[in-house]
Amino acid sequence: MSGTRKPLNVVLLGATGSIGRQALEVIDRYPDRFAAFGLVSGARPAGRPARFTTSAADPDCDARVEAMVTHPECDLVLVAIPGARALPPTVAALRAHKKVALATKEVLVMAGELVMALARHDHDTLRPVDSEHSAIWQCLWGEHLDSVGRLVLTATGGPFWGRPALDLAGVTLEQALAHPRWSMGPKVTIDSATMMNKALETIEAHHLFGIPLDRIDVLIHPQAIVHSLVEFSDGSTKAQLGNPDMRLPIALALSYPERLPGAVPPTRLEAVGPLEFHRLDETRFPAVRLARAAASRGGAHPAVFNAANEVAVEAFQAGDAGFADIVGLVESALAAFPGGGPAMEEILEADGWARDYVRSQVGSYKR
Ligand code: MG
Repeated sequence: MSGTRKPLNVVLLGATGSIGRQALEVIDRYPDRFAAFGLVSGARPAGRPARFTTSAADPDCDARVEAMVTHPECDLVLVAIPGARALPPTVAALRAHKKVALATKEVLVMAGELVMALARHDHDTLRPVDSEHSAIWQCLWGEHLDSVGRLVLTATGGPFWGRPALDLAGVTLEQALAHPRWSMGPKVTIDSATMMNKALETIEAHHLFGIPLDRIDVLIHPQAIVHSLVEFSDGSTKAQLGNPDMRLPIALALSYPERLPGAVPPTRLEAVGPLEFHRLDETRFPAVRLARAAASRGGAHPAVFNAANEVAVEAFQAGDAGFADIVGLVESALAAFPGGGPAMEEILEADGWARDYVRSQVGSYKR
């Protein structure tokens, strides 16, 4: 390792969010390795210096972001802005042959075929930041993809899986927001309660690792110590373990193929206690099954799946749809979708179509 290499110039999309703030922590701890080159924040400015900064409040934000992620001196783009807005700058960065650390799962859910085609030129172009996908990525280092039997994504299960007698149709917003493990934003907390988060992650893993959908499974693991597993054709299973700490997947996505010394404190399993694993009840939680169906139809269907879920979650938060209606609305949007291809314009059109469709349906779900 050379001691004189120049720091990696990182552009952060979503610098003030939870992932962005933890990424800045990593960057600041290893100043000889990384520099904050560009910072893109939401409505509030990032509040710290960088070569380039912009925020969603800037009317020229989109053009400035594109200039940053394609700048000749930018080395890596961390994508951590939620939803469909993350897609155009991710595509621009990949077209400019930048490394991309991807925290926004919607990018691969909406446009997996397009994004993976752009990322294929180098094996380390696209680096997952989602903790489950980082785990699988680590388990696959040094392995041949044709010896992979099955990927297993772990899920904490959210607040309801352990209460089988609870009628999900009557779940309140307050109950759905009470995640047993940690506090996150409302969208991802509700997605964990419906298992939509794991459904989106199934599609994300399918594209990222090129593994068929019928060989990606979900296991409930309430302790959230095993971040995911890979089963190989010889019967061996590899898992990646650790206390939940997003700084690890962030650090790895920035430093690959090296590991940063002391990135997070080591996990002592004797202090963790028993680890449990349970099968996912796909009848009670049909989201993962629905995701497999949407992704196997391909084209713009996964974009419809994602957008319909976003609007259905908003409707549930507004009190206009019940908890069990979230998955029902997504299913009905997929059934009504006339179809569309995997090109960028078709994906964005399908995204808009699904939003309008669910909004038009929400009235009929009102009680
Ligand atoms: Mg995850």
